[in-house]
Amino acid sequence: MKKEISICNITAKPDQKAQGFINILDTETKMPITIINGKKEGKTVLITAGVHGCEYPGIRTAIELAKEINPQDISGNIIIVHVVNTAGFEKRRAAIMPEDNKNILRVFPGDGNGTISDKIAHVITNELISKVDYYFDIHGGDLHEELIPHLYYPAKADEEVVNKCIEIAKHFNVAYYAPSNNINGTFTSAAINKNIPSLLIERGGCGLCKEEEVNLYKDDILNILSVLNVIKYERCSKEFSPKEIKKAIYLDARVDGCWTCFVKPGQAIKKGEKLGEISDYFGNIIDTYYAEFDSTVLYNTVAYYVSKGNSLVAYGRS
Ligand SMILES: [Zn+2]
Repeated sequence: MKKEISICNITAKPDQKAQGFINILDTETKMPITIINGKKEGKTVLITAGVHGCEYPGIRTAIELAKEINPQDISGNIIIVHVVNTAGFEKRRAAIMPEDNKNILRVFPGDGNGTISDKIAHVITNELISKVDYYFDIHGGDLHEELIPHLYYPAKADEEVVNKCIEIAKHFNVAYYAPSNNINGTFTSAAINKNIPSLLIERGGCGLCKEEEVNLYKDDILNILSVLNVIKYERCSKEFSPKEIKKAIYLDARVDGCWTCFVKPGQAIKKGEKLGEISDYFGNIIDTYYAEFDSTVLYNTVAYYVSKGNSLVAYGRS
């Protein structure tokens, strides 16, 4: 007999959908969540959106899928966190959780005795990731970023887990899949510490929430649920056949100043090509950035001001 699923204070019985907010330990913070307990047995999939509160297409995708998917169409279970970083979403703060200024993506597996970001990560790790077979963390370019759709897989997990991640990555409608050597991210921690195949997907950016991007995101997620035999679904579009990024540069600003970017996501660039420059308040160029090898631009910062250490451009080759 299929079992009920409980996450904190919310329970969904078989062939039921349960929605509500879960509390983050002893804090006032709550996360909107949907548990879809399918009619038939199958895999359990976790989807989280809004770890970064201004990456809107992923958040709207989570909200719409949570509303539209019916338990009677599901073999297995789907757990959807609509927005992880609700404070960042409501206050329109890019990248960080405004209450402790931490990037939630970099504090996994979390700490129940830490600040709010650590506690959120702790709850996601122990109440959610520990109960699932697959995990997808859906992101996008932040307020200040634009990108070509791509995704990251956890490169530091056990080989068997890494191979599973790559296998699923190939089914996405994104241009590239790139290894992440990070160990404390949502998806990397899930793969390394819990052996759960996990991916981080990037689509959209610049604070936009275009319907066509949301539709492509939903199509991609429904397709992957179909690949995992959780739902029956025929995908609507497949623009890309993802290629692996074998070598990449994630270029950060060496100085503070006004950033002008000369390249666009998806653009092919040549070794030595000028990527952008930083000038002072008087328009004098104080730093210039060049491509180290022939490659393709994955994402770039569109904001006119950057601080030392901020991301400028990421590019890679397959
Ligand atoms: Zn993000």
